[in-house]
Amino acid sequence: MERAAGTHHDHGRQPRFLSFVPAAPTQAATLFDMLVSCSSIQGVSWLLASGPIAAENQVLRLLADLAGMPAEAGGCFVSGGSAGNLSALVTARDTARRRRGLGPYDRVRFAVSDQAHSSIGNALRIIGVEPFTVPTTDHRLTGPALRAALLADAAPSDVIGVAATAGTTNAGIIDDLTGIAAVARDFGLWLHVDGAYGGAGLLAPSVRHRYRGIEHADSLVIDPHKWLFAPFDCAALLYREPRLARAAHTQDASYLDALHTDDDTQWNPSDYAHHLSRRARGLPLWFSLAVHGTRAYSEAVEKALILARATAALIRNTPYLELIREPELSAVLFRRIGWSPEDYAARSARLLAGQTAFVAPTGWEGETIARFAFLHPETSLQSVEEIMGTMA
Ligand SMILES: *Cc1c(COP(=O)(O)O)cnc(C)c1O
Repeated sequence: MERAAGTHHDHGRQPRFLSFVPAAPTQAATLFDMLVSCSSIQGVSWLLASGPIAAENQVLRLLADLAGMPAEAGGCFVSGGSAGNLSALVTARDTARRRRGLGPYDRVRFAVSDQAHSSIGNALRIIGVEPFTVPTTDHRLTGPALRAALLADAAPSDVIGVAATAGTTNAGIIDDLTGIAAVARDFGLWLHVDGAYGGAGLLAPSVRHRYRGIEHADSLVIDPHKWLFAPFDCAALLYREPRLARAAHTQDASYLDALHTDDDTQWNPSDYAHHLSRRARGLPLWFSLAVHGTRAYSEAVEKALILARATAALIRNTPYLELIREPELSAVLFRRIGWSPEDYAARSARLLAGQTAFVAPTGWEGETIARFAFLHPETSLQSVEEIMGTMA
């Protein structure tokens, strides 16, 4: 693909980069990322890095509070949503096997929707857990659909957990978390919530109600390198009961014995995911939050939501365009009436070649359509109008 210099395709941090899920790190976060790298600050263990880890844990606490998770909740920062999902699902699997007295090769399954992110399917394949795929209603996984699928199954007792999505990447749809949490309770399932993209919306008062039920999550992933303005690579992984993650992930090696004491205030991020050495990648976000304050973050997240709603209104008023669905978060899906997949691809290439914007098409129910994914607080409605004008 042609290099998108004007749209900074390499960093994806420009206001007219509207494909995939863009990134828009703050200058404060980027600056601090340089310091973290230059000073080779590590983030493995309390013994070697209690200061950086205490700062990272403040950010994890903020996110846990936004989600309404209990005071004991905690975890660590990992490289991305994929790594977070994998580590969480390992904890879910090992916890279920231990609680149910199962052996390491006994069959277990994990409920997922047909809209779950590809990394969930990959993680299940890696850890040898079969997906139990539950159909969605209008692309949303609901409690009743999960319950019906479990009741219709011949062996529902080997389903050990459910992965819900708080903001699908393509369309920004948040699953019925309250309903799913109730079924998880009734069937003794681990509730994992993938909020890699959408979790940032917890900061936005206008959509906070859509996340009701997220407080029941046993594990939760939110990617600050997406919509919380942190540089790559930064994903927050939280557990309701961190001791379950320690039981699954703590590495047992003689040379590491010194890291592990009985003092639970000594927090080793290496115990909460499938990693050992790690950089203190939560620090750039911590610094930027300290510089800007959380209100600035709420306002920045709201900006993308407001722009998504204004864009939807504009599409509704444009005769040659058709809104696919009302945006719930900051992704807007729409169709140019009469266009073929080649027309969408050609327009995307033209915008890129002209250094106007980077707006790749997407798929929806088998059709190629147009999509905007907003998150940069400086993307203007005027640029959106200009881009839409190229589809006339
Ligand atoms: C982006 C995304 C992921 C993967 O996150 P990476 O940080 O790219 O590994 C997982 N789940 C959802 C819902 C996402 O949007």
